[in-house]
Amino acid sequence: MVDYDLVIIGSGPAGLTAGLYAARARLNVLVLEKSVPGGQILVTDWVENYPGFPEGISGYDLAEKFRIQAENLGLTIENGEVQSLDFSDAKEKKIILRDKTITCSALIIASGASPRRLGIGEDDYMGRGLSFCATCDGPFFRDKVVVAVGGGDTAVQESIFLTKFAKKVYLVHRRDELRATKILQERAFANDKIEILWNSVATGLEGDAGIEKVKIQDVKTGEEKSVEASGCFIWVGIEPNGAFINGQVATDEYGFIIADEQMQTNVPGVFAVGDIRNTPLRQIATAVGDAAIAAMTAEHYIESL
Ligand code: NAP
Repeated sequence: MVDYDLVIIGSGPAGLTAGLYAARARLNVLVLEKSVPGGQILVTDWVENYPGFPEGISGYDLAEKFRIQAENLGLTIENGEVQSLDFSDAKEKKIILRDKTITCSALIIASGASPRRLGIGEDDYMGRGLSFCATCDGPFFRDKVVVAVGGGDTAVQESIFLTKFAKKVYLVHRRDELRATKILQERAFANDKIEILWNSVATGLEGDAGIEKVKIQDVKTGEEKSVEASGCFIWVGIEPNGAFINGQVATDEYGFIIADEQMQTNVPGVFAVGDIRNTPLRQIATAVGDAAIAAMTAEHYIESL
């Protein structure tokens, strides 16, 4: 006898949506979360591309709405960090936590992704000027100069947010064209507090008590210079939160889980949704879409056992 019909690892938009659907289907379901329910949107300043909120909504508020709605429908969210998985018994899949092992018939992996690091001394300056979260740390840089690294949606959107506080944001991007969606690019170009340093990479951080300078290299000429700044925000993409997977399901070369259009991985009854999945688009809208499909497929799988 398994502990749960369905366990969901992770409680970002994907995990909470899968949980909401499973709770409504009256499955015996548990969501495991290693920190706080909400996932990456907890640190997203403003969400304006998720339908239903015509004025936009803060990522934190949206995450709270997801959580409250799921819990109102009967979902249980438990704190716990998954250490490893054991699928040797197909009917009793094991999820190994630090202090106990949970068994289930079906599993949805919705553990998301985390900011990638550049390896320029992030750990040395963490909390001393280095950050991955403008919502959390932006207010510390009122009237200061900051450097932001990256050219994707996160870097551009969060740089715009930083201009509410900082007097100047240098946006350092390795190419001569941004990757971010056009509407964000337009806003960045129109914002006179943002100066884009094209064809440039951040190569080091300097300062005693905290960041005082960021070393920037021009990738075309090789020329290096130091920009005086009190903060440095790194937004150069994401990496899968999948240390616990350890070869138990098939992933791509970057560690994102491969799943078909039913969200089914190579292991029957194990599904992957949201940012951890090898997917062409990582949005809240696609995460919740993945989750609805996976919950339904998981329900059919459990019925078939
Ligand atoms: P991303 O789209 O992968 O962009 C990463 C950026 O960092 C790219 O511009 C990339 O440069 C640069 N980069 C990567 N490695 C680098 C390195 N070693 N050195 C210097 N620069 C480096 O990541 P993201 O912006 O975090 O977004 C992740 C996902 O979330 C995306 O699917 C994005 O659309 C989504 N998202 C959406 C929204 C929204 O819809 N409002 C907001 C945030 C995030 P290149 O361009 O040269 O590759």
